[in-house]
Amino acid sequence: MHITRRQFTKTTLLASTGAALIGSNLVAQNSASVYIVQNGDTLSHIALRNGVPESAIKKANNLNSDLIRVGQKLKIPTSENASIGDFDSGIIHEVKRGDTLGGIAMTHGVSISNLKRANNISSDVIQIGQKLKIPVIVSTEDLLSHVRAQTVKIAVQRDNWKRIVVHHSAIKYGNAAVYDRAHRKRGMQNGLAYHFVIGNGIDSGDGEIEVGPRWTKQLLGGHVKSYQTNLTAIGICLVGNFEATHPSKRQLSAFTQLMDWLRSDVVPKATNFAGHRDLRGEQTICPGKNFPLAAMHARYD
Ligand SMILES: [Zn+2]
Repeated sequence: MHITRRQFTKTTLLASTGAALIGSNLVAQNSASVYIVQNGDTLSHIALRNGVPESAIKKANNLNSDLIRVGQKLKIPTSENASIGDFDSGIIHEVKRGDTLGGIAMTHGVSISNLKRANNISSDVIQIGQKLKIPVIVSTEDLLSHVRAQTVKIAVQRDNWKRIVVHHSAIKYGNAAVYDRAHRKRGMQNGLAYHFVIGNGIDSGDGEIEVGPRWTKQLLGGHVKSYQTNLTAIGICLVGNFEATHPSKRQLSAFTQLMDWLRSDVVPKATNFAGHRDLRGEQTICPGKNFPLAAMHARYD
């Protein structure tokens, strides 16, 4: 099912009333939250807005269909609850001198919040000799596991990255390898201009996140016109022409998973988010009118 433009407008409106909405409709209840269904809501946009897979909301609420009614209270699992199974992987990490929570999370390819939850700790302080359980990540809804695994092997130039810019490819076909060839033909010696490419199910998987060499080698991007911006901006490209079609649910889920993880665990929290067209002097419609840019700004600004 495609999410219509009208629904996104509504999402944006709801999102822009942020605090009021959260105050009235979203009530913290233990570790999950409760959302009260509003007029015009659909499961898919509640899922998108909360950054959790639709299937996780259905599972948490024992729903067999997509049907919801106004006033209904839905439990919203956190995006990590949605992607995590039993906490018991059997792996124990004993904290050594110089270890940090972030470093340990990276080494084992899990998020900091998953690690904290698995060990029932609320602060970032850990002690030498402390034994930390490493949680298991279930791969079915987790589109990031290979991205984390590839990132573990590299030294992220954390302080270099000031911005994350989202693009569409403006063409329905392609994947990282196809764009790499095209960008080399255009004279880019580092090839693929983006750091990540999110597939649409045609030439790569729907929601598949391909990690480009500019990420694994921590090279500057080639995805915007401004050289200065390219130096410090991570480029994420969703395959598709979002002037003509919509990003798929799995693409948006992959995008939000990637963004959430980058901003919580990988790059500084202050890292700015922008659509390509938000950048001054770029003169582009990228990432297309059907990419939910306003909703993403509400989420990441
Ligand atoms: Zn662009």
